[in-house]
Amino acid sequence: MIEFDRVDKSFGDLKVLDELSFRVDPGERVTLIGPSGSGKTTILRLLMTLERVTPKADPERDGGVVWLEGEPYSHMEKRGRLVPANEQWLRRRRSRVGMVFQQFNLFPNMKVLRNVTEAQVHVAGRSKEEAEAKALDLLDLVGLAEKTGEYPSRLSGGQQQRVAIARALAMDPDVLLLDEVTSALDPELVADVLAVLRDVAGSTSITMLCVTHEMGFARDVSDRVMMFDGGRIVEQGPPEAMFSEPQEARTQDFLRAVL
Ligand code: ADP
Repeated sequence: MIEFDRVDKSFGDLKVLDELSFRVDPGERVTLIGPSGSGKTTILRLLMTLERVTPKADPERDGGVVWLEGEPYSHMEKRGRLVPANEQWLRRRRSRVGMVFQQFNLFPNMKVLRNVTEAQVHVAGRSKEEAEAKALDLLDLVGLAEKTGEYPSRLSGGQQQRVAIARALAMDPDVLLLDEVTSALDPELVADVLAVLRDVAGSTSITMLCVTHEMGFARDVSDRVMMFDGGRIVEQGPPEAMFSEPQEARTQDFLRAVL
């Protein structure tokens, strides 16, 4: 579903991802853990096309390409060669990817229902009726069927985040990216949001890539945990093995600090 092939990403002199390679299978749930600044969010932002990879001279030979569903994603083919993707290509391809952010990012001037229908109508080209039917189903799934007529400001942070999850799923993405989705929430609201995500994980086959500090959630929903440090994968494996018998000292230190 996703492949990073020797991807570099720098901000000025700061190298954030260093020849990073990994693959995620269709339907797989992968959690990225690691110290702050290790490049986890940058990976999600590249997949949302909010950042661009640092180009390499010859992508065929040197890599530096992100692939989605077997097709280039950060790049496109032009006369049989891989070249950095243009805006039009990225716009089309990123509709396959949904993201939920730390800070919800709902449209404050739109009621809950319209937050979930807007992109369906204007980006996916669905009819208003079709979009509303889908939105109501999803708002029901996240436990907010009663709140469709409210503005986001009238909802708790946890409820806003559940709307954001419904909004991301409404576009039928193949990949759902979750960036620290509970870290802006009061502790008593975290459990509801995690329960909704457990339901989503249990009831769909969507591929999930999560950055989280919630190790309990990581343990419950992930098929694989990847530990990052300095823009590289230090260690990866199934959650049971990663949490109970981490092999690398950096993973052991990190887990000791967060568990
Ligand atoms: P993590 O999610 O693991 O905490 P990030 O991917 O957010 O790490 O960031 C990795 C590094 O890149 C950090 O040192 C961060 O300050 C830096 N960084 C991220 N985005 C930018 C940016 N737009 N401009 C400059 N530096 C950035």
